[in-house]
Amino acid sequence: MLAVRYHGVGQVHVEDMSRPVCGPGQVLVKVVYAGICGSDLHIFRKGMFVSTIPEIMGHEFSGVVEQVGPKVITLQPGDQVVGDPRVSCGTCAWCRTGAYNLCPNLGFIGEVRPGCFAEYLVLNANKLIKVPASVPLRRAALVEPLAVALHIAGKGRLEQAEHLGIVGAGPIGILTVLVAQTMQVKRVTVIDIAEERLALAGRLGATVLSAFPAGQDDQPDVVVEAVGVEPTLAGALVWLRPRGRLVMAGLYEEKINIDPNDIVVKELELVGVSAYETADLQQAVELVAKGEMDVEQVVTHVLPLTSAPEAFALLASGDKKAGKILLTPREKGEENGPGR
Ligand SMILES: [Zn+2]
Ligand SMILES: [Zn+2]
Repeated sequence: MLAVRYHGVGQVHVEDMSRPVCGPGQVLVKVVYAGICGSDLHIFRKGMFVSTIPEIMGHEFSGVVEQVGPKVITLQPGDQVVGDPRVSCGTCAWCRTGAYNLCPNLGFIGEVRPGCFAEYLVLNANKLIKVPASVPLRRAALVEPLAVALHIAGKGRLEQAEHLGIVGAGPIGILTVLVAQTMQVKRVTVIDIAEERLALAGRLGATVLSAFPAGQDDQPDVVVEAVGVEPTLAGALVWLRPRGRLVMAGLYEEKINIDPNDIVVKELELVGVSAYETADLQQAVELVAKGEMDVEQVVTHVLPLTSAPEAFALLASGDKKAGKILLTPREKGEENGPGR
């Protein structure tokens, strides 16, 4: 089978490998769509998170069960599935309560285990969530980043009457706009420097800005920082109203300098967000199955798996024109239309 393996910073190769085999309790999944995540870019640019090199990348996918191993009774060949890509120890205090995202040894498939940028992958049956046959798999591929957006809204204790600010209109920022709209928040303001990304946020009904506003009118109650660099975090602290809440969703590639007094004098609340909880994943599947949220808005490219090196080059380029790129092991990528 074809697979995309990480060999070191800036090195992503498409290779021919043997198809994995599923053992007891495991399932062989034929990958149909796999999304490139911001964390995959951190791997590509800085070598973060990966424990073995080379490794098959990728943790966001939708697919179809190809084969089930002995003792698997919850799934059968032909079922549509998405994955819970979190890899945790299973024995620590956090894992024992089901808060796998807080496991000190948390990793993801595509980082510490073979990932989904491949024609097939094997996962334990309990790491797969069945998706109704009526759901297009292209939409189902967005369940994982949607779970992040749901976790962001939850951790920010976002409420209906509030003004939400979002810094960064990448896929997570845009999915957070959609989640906020289902909650009927008062207003969403999105800040980004990339025109294409702002245009999408605007089409979805958000107020868009290309820089932090100077004045103190209409400051947000909650700001989601979804970039992870110094000026965006510093700007977010200044933008928030007194006693506002900051949700830190961006991951940082470098240490940064901020002025902590911006937090102190306004009595801000800060909360970090790491991935999602199982309930967020389940809710994301339900929302995607209902089809009321147009999550596919974040997809700007559907490319063949063999174009992964070009896809990474596109995402790493400074112009930020690409949003979510889905890779598909099908021969050709697609421009439009629901897929299966
Ligand atoms: Zn992801
Ligand atoms: Zn653990």
